[in-house]
Amino acid sequence: MTEEKKNTNAWQVALQQLDEIAKRINLEPWIHKKLRRPKRELTVSIPIKMDDGSVEVFTGYRVQHNITLGPAKGGIRYSPDVTLDEIRALAMLMTWKCAVAGIPYGGAKGGVICDPEKLSLGELERLTRRYTSEIIIMIGPEKDIPAPDINTNSQIMAWIMDTYSINKGYSVPGVVTGKPVVIGGSEGRQEATGRGVTFITLNTLKYLNQGIEDRKVVIQGFGKVGSVTAKLLHLEGAKIIGIGEIYGAIYNPKGLNPLEVDKYRRETGSILGYKDSEDITNKELLELNCDILIPAATEGQITEKNAPNIKARVLIEAANGPTTPSADKILESKGIFVVPDILTNAGGVIVSYFEWVQGIQGYFWSEREVNLKLRDIMDRAFHHVLELSLKEKVSMRTAALMLAVSRVAEATKIRGLYP
Ligand code: NAD
Repeated sequence: MTEEKKNTNAWQVALQQLDEIAKRINLEPWIHKKLRRPKRELTVSIPIKMDDGSVEVFTGYRVQHNITLGPAKGGIRYSPDVTLDEIRALAMLMTWKCAVAGIPYGGAKGGVICDPEKLSLGELERLTRRYTSEIIIMIGPEKDIPAPDINTNSQIMAWIMDTYSINKGYSVPGVVTGKPVVIGGSEGRQEATGRGVTFITLNTLKYLNQGIEDRKVVIQGFGKVGSVTAKLLHLEGAKIIGIGEIYGAIYNPKGLNPLEVDKYRRETGSILGYKDSEDITNKELLELNCDILIPAATEGQITEKNAPNIKARVLIEAANGPTTPSADKILESKGIFVVPDILTNAGGVIVSYFEWVQGIQGYFWSEREVNLKLRDIMDRAFHHVLELSLKEKVSMRTAALMLAVSRVAEATKIRGLYP
């Protein structure tokens, strides 16, 4: 576990954020109390037969933070660093993210403590199927719909869908999103989060009266989100000068071609040593001289230690919770324009919503239609948040949270308290 992560309890941070927003919007105390607690949480043990014949027992979680606006929605991550508090925090973030985007879902998250790099494909499949059957009491197309997150992908979603379907006795594609297209996935889902991050970056630059051409961009994390963002921004004319992964980063002040970097990584298994670039540390990456910094790796990366050294003028939070609250204050005092995670990375859940809608209708859209509808929702959400931020003279993060919590609170109030 990274030093930053040990020192930052994501759940405490999420609660602190909610408490501050509650004060600002005069949230009714009973609704505030209710929102401070996850609705349901499940911890499961997952015994797996390993390839060498031994048995390992893994731990997994599924947390539903809130289901007022609709079924719970949220990804599943596989990582040695997963904790219940982290999953709780991410579930709460999902509630806010769906509310900001205006899609009819509540928030959830799941995770398994494991290092997928150390598992064979067979072990990964057995782990996924057993985890699915352990959380089957919670998930379902009308209840809680998982999706990919860190170290999980469309293959893992296919195994979840298959395990759930076998248990039900019929195919239930709507139980997960982020599935392969051949079993009911949506066109454009794989790229959706990175595409959404790109739309948000373009909207931000437009608001700041800047063009994208030759803007110097640094991206931390070259996974499903970071690599797509890097490629799309490169195609828009930005200069991607730094790219980082968990083991190190590369830098070229003249710009890197992310499509070539990805090809090189596929051939060699690493981005390090890429031609015409210098290998640098993760610390150096975040502190590079650039216009736009895009953390797209994991939470707690921008801390009070490195925030004073950040030179970017714009920070686009593609990862969930990449900035600690103390770092956030430092960035604000430095006048850095921060676009928060719940707005920036909503593209994934929006196209997940499209996937679910298309599945229910049994009528599938073209990639063009998906991308246009995604752009529409992202642009609208950006402008709603920006307008509120200007009206209330608050940061984009505060405005996004105010909007989200108010929407959930309004729905809670109108539904009333049972019994
Ligand atoms: P991924 O597993 O595909 O990629 C993660 C990347 O981050 C990898 O390149 C990895 O090397 C890097 N990384 C991890 N820890 C790091 C560290 N400490 N320092 C530097 N690099 C590190 O995951 P992803 O799906 O791209 O998710 C990235 C972030 O975006 C996460 O915070 C996730 O919750 C968030 N997110 C993902 C989606 C989605 O659709 N995949 C949607 C919304 C938000």
